[in-house]
Amino acid sequence: MLTPASLRFATAAFALALLGGPTAGALAGPTLKGRALWAHPSDAGTSESSVKAFVEQLAAAHVNTVVMEVKTAAGLFWPSERFGPAVVPGYRDFDFPAVLVRECHKRKIAVHAWFFDFAEGAGSDVVETHPEWLARSPEGKPTTDEVLRGRPYRLAWMCPARRPGYTDQWLIPLIEEFAARYDVDAIHHDYVRYPGDLAPDTYCFCDFCLDEIPRYASYYSTTYPDHSLLAPMDRPHLEAHWEKSPKVLPPTWKDYSREMKSRLLLGGSFFPGGNHDLDYFFYEYRAHHIALFTREVKEAVQKRRPHVEFSAAVFRNPVQSGRFIGQDWRRFAPWVDTLMPMDYRGHYAGDFEMHLDLLAESIQQQKVWARDFRHLWIGIAAYQLYEAQHEPLLRMRRLLRENGPVAEIGAAFDPVAEALAAAAPDLKSALAAYLREPKNAEELAAKLDAFLASPPPGYYPPALLNRTLERVRAQDVEGIVIFSAAGITSAGLWPTLADFFGR
Ligand SMILES: [Zn+2]
Repeated sequence: MLTPASLRFATAAFALALLGGPTAGALAGPTLKGRALWAHPSDAGTSESSVKAFVEQLAAAHVNTVVMEVKTAAGLFWPSERFGPAVVPGYRDFDFPAVLVRECHKRKIAVHAWFFDFAEGAGSDVVETHPEWLARSPEGKPTTDEVLRGRPYRLAWMCPARRPGYTDQWLIPLIEEFAARYDVDAIHHDYVRYPGDLAPDTYCFCDFCLDEIPRYASYYSTTYPDHSLLAPMDRPHLEAHWEKSPKVLPPTWKDYSREMKSRLLLGGSFFPGGNHDLDYFFYEYRAHHIALFTREVKEAVQKRRPHVEFSAAVFRNPVQSGRFIGQDWRRFAPWVDTLMPMDYRGHYAGDFEMHLDLLAESIQQQKVWARDFRHLWIGIAAYQLYEAQHEPLLRMRRLLRENGPVAEIGAAFDPVAEALAAAAPDLKSALAAYLREPKNAEELAAKLDAFLASPPPGYYPPALLNRTLERVRAQDVEGIVIFSAAGITSAGLWPTLADFFGR
């Protein structure tokens, strides 16, 4: 194992090697301690030989940790005994994690089992059998009743706080079952938070939370529930009298509707006439329950397997994510070993160059916030670096299949014409011909299918990935985790990855 001191030495040696210094020949093996990839079971297939081939591909790219999805919105990717109806078809008869772990360990590749924690599929087994465990809005609706960007929202978010509920009756038991069954190196948390992209302040106001938020924040005394708890006001500021904590709930609280209760819990004041500060306690309650889950699951799993570690995919700024999605990940430190902030291109404003600067700035902040964690590995989304190359192809293909306006196809074609001319001159000519004389749209769409399935080298410039990875490494971090195996495949970037991780 590399110590931080030897890591620094290795980084310095690497810099010298780049300059062609005398140590170049002495360097042996990769310098980055964490070389990880997020992956989906479909990347590895459902046969012994396909899993072996996938693992060989990882080894060839010097990947030493694979973070593999085993619970998604689609269900479970192992033949669970206790949660049988939740198993994804195709994974009942093939014990995918068993084969993956065996093959990875032969190659000294660590396996992190990746769980979607609080996000379920709209029609998943647990949503059907326990709708009372769903997170609820002030109107009493689950997230699947929401519409986002004009489309029905498909993730069913579960209430993290409710006991007994999803967390202690379903999520922790299924992670325990998995950890007891498979010799994985770590359990990986994802969606370890409240929903954020549709309505940050809307969840959770389920029956349990409506009772629990006031109890958690001591908005009344459970011993003297009707007492106002008012004390003499001898100082000029209302909030200066918080120590004796007056009763915050109004006398008619129990007659309030769910919407009225929710409104007070978000918009009310700790003191009548004081600042509108009850939202502070709402956000605190959510951050508490997310961190509590990371604790409870670790304590449960380590009873069976004391050496299993934990990792987590988190948003980049815990101060902001604590407020917006209940994910103040600084609180996870005792229960999560490896922190993996998702420092994706899409989370940074500006052009590519500006994004690199913002990324470097973020990582320096994260190193301070994450200093209580054993490991900090920076997450990069490879495919998001290539939107400008990828998106126009998808748009043209869709327009061709929909018989869309030629002018729109032309608008998508123009920005990528030069790159196509260099990488796939036949396809470029065929598209240009279609713009002159639109015919055989389906044939052309099929050509785009073939291109997208197996892009020629160079169309997706390796420099974008390389420069991003170099910028991350220049921040002196211990590891990098890349999203995802499929993204690397679809952009033809395995050689680039192998080259970078191998240095
Ligand atoms: Zn709730």
